[in-house]
Amino acid sequence: MALLQIRDLCIDYRTTAGTARAVDKLSLDIEEGEYLGLVGESGCGKSTIAKAVLGILPRNGAVAEGDILFRGRSLPHSSLQELNRLRWRDIAMVPQSAMNGFDPVYTIEAQINEAIDTHVSWSREQKRKRIDELFAFVGLERGRAHDFPHQFSGGMRQRAMIAMAMALDPGFIVADEPTTGLDVIVQDQILHRIKEIHTRFGKTMLLITHDMAVVAENCDRIAVMYAGKLVEHGAHNVFETPFHPYTMGLCNAFPDLADRGRELISIPKAPPNLLTPPVGCRFADRCPFAAARCRAEAPALVEVGPGHVAACHFIDRAAEFRMKARDIGT
Ligand code: ATP
Ligand code: MG
Repeated sequence: MALLQIRDLCIDYRTTAGTARAVDKLSLDIEEGEYLGLVGESGCGKSTIAKAVLGILPRNGAVAEGDILFRGRSLPHSSLQELNRLRWRDIAMVPQSAMNGFDPVYTIEAQINEAIDTHVSWSREQKRKRIDELFAFVGLERGRAHDFPHQFSGGMRQRAMIAMAMALDPGFIVADEPTTGLDVIVQDQILHRIKEIHTRFGKTMLLITHDMAVVAENCDRIAVMYAGKLVEHGAHNVFETPFHPYTMGLCNAFPDLADRGRELISIPKAPPNLLTPPVGCRFADRCPFAAARCRAEAPALVEVGPGHVAACHFIDRAAEFRMKARDIGT
């Protein structure tokens, strides 16, 4: 059984203009020990999924249909108390801006201790030892644990956030754009630490980012979302041999996957309005290969290779599309 099973998940946001379905019938498994990268342009629903997993959707957001099972247990159907028990101990999050994760009025050590104290009763000595280990792992000077968050640089705060996420040795760690706003060198260091959590400690990880290069470099599986839908999912070959024209477009937007810091999208036009999504393929309006069928009928995910699925009506023409997409991209 996969560690995390997302099943036909639909997540709605109520707005004054109507109900926006930010995640639509999305199914995705994350196996124990896997490092999954979730990519897609801004607004496609990545953080919404992370928030649903952690049980921290905003008040106007809710799981409307489907389920998220963690070790077989339904997260949307868990009580607040049950979710609180899981948080930090079983599932931890490294959020986008570390400042959001820390309370400015307490020292870093006090906050890590508090996360520990809510779950286990360790002696002061045990906690001190744990923070020694954690700070050594993330590369922070031990003495700095007595500092307040504002005394840390952005990169140091993010290291401290990783330490806090690791404090109780959780099995699953979600990192939602953990390096946004940091300079490229610090980004690399932070991503390296995050990857080590996976390689050294065998943790199951979900990394959310816009940055295809980061995912290609770090993750062992890749999921691509578009306008609330999962459009492609597989191993590294997703970027090497994409089957969905959206993934092809993303790959073109990163002609050199080593060239960091480039803004992703150069695909013309914008994603559909989620208040009134099209009936057919959501990408049809921007797809250079769209046919009448694409506007009339939504494509289902089909297997295109071992462990590789994509949702396009013209899977059998993917090789031809890939060649043409490359020409369009240049
Ligand atoms: P980004 O890469 O910019 O972080 P994302 O993929 O994480 O984007 P989400 O934040 O999950 O996207 O948002 C998905 C959709 O839901 C977007 O269309 C967004 O406008 C909408 N949305 C998000 N939060 C709310 C909210 N609290 N109320 C209404 N709509 C929301
Ligand atoms: Mg987001």
